[in-house]
Amino acid sequence: MARRVGVEDAWDDDDFSPEDDDDSTIACPHCRRQIHEEAERCPYCEKYISEEDAPPARKPWWILIGVGLCLYVLYRWIVGW
Ligand SMILES: [Zn+2]
Repeated sequence: MARRVGVEDAWDDDDFSPEDDDDSTIACPHCRRQIHEEAERCPYCEKYISEEDAPPARKPWWILIGVGLCLYVLYRWIVGW
């Protein structure tokens, strides 16, 4: 059997570097599929791996109210209410 030299041979097992196996994968906490360890987001279920990376789902209205209240109190305190 003659060895065919073609584009396919470039991706033969001989060229498969063992370093590719070093890509550590973790199980997605949402769908349990194997995803890259460094991935911020799961490519399968498109959910963020860690909560810190996830954008806030909705506006934290209570923070806005709290900040507004603090500013209001500060303002009243400064003007000498
Ligand atoms: Zn997932």
